Order: sequence, then C-alpha cells, then structure tokens
Amino acid sequence: MDQLAINGGKPTRSTYLPYSRQSIDDEDIQAVVDVLKSEWVTTGPKISEFEEKLAEYVGAKHAIALSSGTAALHAAIFAAGIESGDEIITTPLSFAATANCILYQRGTPVFADVREDTLNIDPKEIHKKISNKTQAVIPVDFAGQPCDYDKIIRIAKENDLIVIEDAAHALGAEHKGKRVGSFAGMTVFSFHPVKHITTGEGGMVATNNTGFADRLRRFRNHGITLDAKQREETGSWFYEMIDLGYNYRLTDFQCALGLSQLDKLPGWITRRQEIAQYYDAAFSDIPTITPLVNKSDVSHAYHLYVVQLDLEKLTADRTQIFTALRAEGIGVNVHYIPIHLHPFYRDSFETKPGDYPVAEKAYDRLLTLPLFPQMKNKDTKDVIQAVKKVVLAYEA
Ligand SMILES: *Cc1c(COP(=O)(O)O)cnc(C)c1O
Repeated sequence: MDQLAINGGKPTRSTYLPYSRQSIDDEDIQAVVDVLKSEWVTTGPKISEFEEKLAEYVGAKHAIALSSGTAALHAAIFAAGIESGDEIITTPLSFAATANCILYQRGTPVFADVREDTLNIDPKEIHKKISNKTQAVIPVDFAGQPCDYDKIIRIAKENDLIVIEDAAHALGAEHKGKRVGSFAGMTVFSFHPVKHITTGEGGMVATNNTGFADRLRRFRNHGITLDAKQREETGSWFYEMIDLGYNYRLTDFQCALGLSQLDKLPGWITRRQEIAQYYDAAFSDIPTITPLVNKSDVSHAYHLYVVQLDLEKLTADRTQIFTALRAEGIGVNVHYIPIHLHPFYRDSFETKPGDYPVAEKAYDRLLTLPLFPQMKNKDTKDVIQAVKKVVLAYEA
C-alpha cells in the first residue's frame, strides 16, 4: 500500500487542486474593459441587461442585482417586511449569512433540522417550528439540490409564510422541471467566485412579485424612489427616501462580467453534473464513502460535491482524513459548521450541541471534494485515487 503523504509518502498530486475556482476568459475581460471605457461605470445599462437576462434564464418576472449574495438575502428579508419579534425558520446547515440576514432586520432565526439523505431542510421539522410569530422560511438548496418545494410551498401557503429560497448553490437547478428562481416568493443567488458564475462579489434576487421587486430596488439604493440613471432620464433632481435602505448596488462593469459568464452557465452545469456522475460511480464500491442522495425529481446544479464518511468503519475522524487529503494535494473542504454552533449564536441564542442532531451528525462526517467546470479528467482521477488511498489506509 502507498505511504500516505501525511506520513512522508509521495503526494497524489504535486500541485494543489482547490475545491472550487472561478473561470474568467478573454471575452469576460473584454466585456468589463468595454464598460470601464463607457459613460456608466455603475448604475448604467448593464444592470438591467444582466437582471433581465437572469430573470429570463431562471423564469422569473423580475430580478434585482445587489452587491453580494448576503446583501441580496438582507434585501429579501426587508422586502418580506420582517421586523422585530418575527420568527423565520431556516436550516442550521448553511453558511452563516443565511441566518445573519434575519438578524440584520431584528428578526429571530428559528432552526429546523435537515433530512439525512440530502441534508436539505426537513419539511416535517419546519412544521414543528411554526408559531404565531413565524413570517417566513429560508430553505437552502444544499450543494445545489433543490429542497422539497411541493411540501415547503404547501406548508407556507397553509401558514401564510413567505418562502425566501437561498439558492446561492443552485443557479440553474430544477425542481420537477421548474427552474430554481421561478417558484419561491423570492430566490437569492450569489456571484462569489466559488459559485456557478461570478461578478467578483455580487448577488441577485429573483421574484414574480412586483411589490417585492419595488422594495428590493429601493433597498439597494438607500430607500430612495429613483436612482441616478432614472433621474437623468426624467431630467429631474427630485427624489425622496421612503425606506431605510443601504448602498447595496452592483456596478455596471460587474454586471458586464455577469452577462458574459451567464452565457457559459448551461455548459458549465453540464460539466459539473458529468464530474459528479463520475465521482458517484467511482465511490459506489467504497463502503466508507457515501455521496449525498441525488433525488430523481430534481436537476442538481452541483455547486458542491459532498460525501459523508462512515466513521464506524474508519480508524480516523473527519479532521484526520481532511488533513491527509490536503497533504495529497486535494483541496477538500467542509460545508458547513452548523450555524447554531458558532460562538455568536451560542452566546446570543443559547444554542448548543445536541440541538439539531441530524445536521451535527452530518457535520462530523462531511467532506466537500473539488468540483468546478474547468477540472480535467486527470484532476477527477487524482481526487478519486487520493480518496481511495486515504480511506483504505484508515479502514478499521
Ligand atoms: C455564498 C453563500 C451566501 C452568501 O453569498 P455572498 O455572495 O458570498 O455574500 C449565502 N448563502 C449561501 C448558502 C452561500 O453559499
């Protein structure tokens, strides 16, 4: 058996393979340069062009560009009318921003545990957490797989809740043939460089609701009724601030990058799915590695490829396996430390280990493997080879 790199053996790869990476080509760069040479550097024509193209792609009436996915979540919470005392149900197994956005508007996050198979929020748990203060639910399409929206939307209708879908992982995913972005009250996307397409930083909210769209647009511009471009078009200096908003605008040159990236998205998703299938097949005969279940009624956008380790059959824990794989040159990662276990949440809400047992058990076993469209077949093979080498070395 090959000596593990962590024990002084030869690493599987001599160069480090990250878990994700943006892809920016000369066309993308030219699109940005063109805008930098134009009249509008921010809040110009590229904003609405990017918004309209994304809205069309996801099948929504409106899309509103914001300066980050986090700003987009904050704006969605504002547009939903969340205020002090309101409860919003969300998953503990996400990036902290999913719950932080609730606190920005003085709402109270209430966590509902996840399903074991997909690690998506469990509709049965949502049901248990509903009180007369519940106003909204924020499901996260973990790794790029849509949640159980038939059930979630039914529960939301019955209890008069707004569904704010955190689809930072799920641009291009589908649920029962419907594109993510077309069915929730509001759907939030992120264009951080590790996500499907990038604008550097950036985000978008898609919605079919014109009232939400108006509030989202004002919120990103200080709560002001007209933006600079609209004022120039109407030849008026007059505006009024009617909400407490922020400067959450995305620039025109970032939108130019987003537009150029969006053209490539369908091909990139196909490539992500191809790599995921290749991994699925390779791991199907390794008993200590279990990929998350890919449900048959969704089209998974595979932002992440996540596996769970069968710790009962291994002599090492997740951290040891993580470290051994990093030593092999494989950029594994962990998504996520459950939000309720972060010190801020423990201090503010007295959350503690044991509160969300399914998410916590998953957290102890999770590993994210490298997955991005520009990975070569050789890279994929290296990942598989390194994973096999490491888990074999630690088999109980
Ligand atoms: C990336 C991400 C966000 C935040 O997006 P930013 O653009 O980085 O602000 C929110 N939620 C989830 C689930 C994410 O993965």
